[in-house]
Amino acid sequence: MSYTNKFFSVSPHCALKRLEEPYLYDIANDHLYELGEEAFQFLLKCSQGELLSVKEEDESFIQYCLSENLIFMSDTPVRRDICVHPSPVPSLRYLEFQITDRCNLCCRHCYLGEGLCQDLPFEKIGKVLKEFEEIQGLRLLLSGGEPLLHPHFWEINEVLRDYPFRSVLLSNGTLINKDNARKLRVHEVQLSLDGMRKGHESLRGEGTFEKVIRAIDRLQEAHLQVSIATMIHRDNLAEFDELASFLQSKQIEEWNVDVPCLAGRLEEHQDLWVSPKEAGPLLRYAFGGGLHSAEHQQTCGAHLCAIFPDGKVAKCGLFSEEPVGSIDEGLRACWERVPRIPLQQLRCSCSVMEECRGGCRYRAKLQGDPFAPDLFQCCARGVFREESGEGESKK
Ligand code: SF4
Ligand code: SF4
Repeated sequence: MSYTNKFFSVSPHCALKRLEEPYLYDIANDHLYELGEEAFQFLLKCSQGELLSVKEEDESFIQYCLSENLIFMSDTPVRRDICVHPSPVPSLRYLEFQITDRCNLCCRHCYLGEGLCQDLPFEKIGKVLKEFEEIQGLRLLLSGGEPLLHPHFWEINEVLRDYPFRSVLLSNGTLINKDNARKLRVHEVQLSLDGMRKGHESLRGEGTFEKVIRAIDRLQEAHLQVSIATMIHRDNLAEFDELASFLQSKQIEEWNVDVPCLAGRLEEHQDLWVSPKEAGPLLRYAFGGGLHSAEHQQTCGAHLCAIFPDGKVAKCGLFSEEPVGSIDEGLRACWERVPRIPLQQLRCSCSVMEECRGGCRYRAKLQGDPFAPDLFQCCARGVFREESGEGESKK
């Protein structure tokens, strides 16, 4: 193929990102491609409208990008406004953005408890979106309460596609119908589905199961990607195989499985809570995701933080009582204050340390020691812990 006098530009569904390393992010497919500095500069200049000659040794790279639809070729320059200020280290990639604490359900496990009907003002939301772009963010999780109940939800929805990051709506699914599914401008909707009918409705109330199932269909008909989040509780323990088959039949590509913390309404419904021994093995049903991930010497959530409806910022959605600042001070300033526990400080010693990284630091804190192993993960991974007598010996 001849590339003479041809212009290249990054495809509209992709963005250049300068994180710890330079990357090309496929926003639509949530895929991150690491680039060499030379390739990054080449794509940057092309996207600024420069006509660059393709060296013979670069041809396979260009061909690969074209075949994957990561870049496109044209006879005239197509300039893109690209923001590539270097990110902080570690980079902030995932932002859980709780825009309201309003909700139309009263789930028995909800850690928020009774909300105060707080909505983050629309202007502040716009400022955060801009800051998340500048900090090189990858994935915005629009959350609540039920985010569809924010009084300005549909105005927020309209501006989301202007930003070079993936937007994911976290919803209980009960308010989604054919009409509003078609209006959504997010890339993905993550629905809460806490079991089959019996398990789901024991937490969320009668009639909610049908509504979520209908929401999956309406969203998929509108060509939106759907992922699922499930909480393990007393009444869904026996439903995981059936739920896994159901999600497979719906071609769901990401399934987050977690354990509710003894906070908020779950304190009044402790009968729903399950022990590490019961819940641990079920955590292994999850697939996809990666929001809570870390690498090198870091523990969980190295690239994640959360903003709450009152504008407070914290390590993640579970750390609302330990805010590091307010969004009025700027996202970057808050991110730099997020406390981090290095891997070496954990009281974990097992053969899956590299993969597990001590599990969830919030759960460890609830067990009474922020440096302790997360017993749910120990049981998920079959690592024996004397502290609990849970799990199986690796011997
Ligand atoms: S504390 Fe738990 S919820 Fe928060 S980032 Fe770590 S793993 Fe995720
Ligand atoms: S399996 Fe348990 S001991 Fe091992 S890293 Fe995870 S939490 Fe720590």
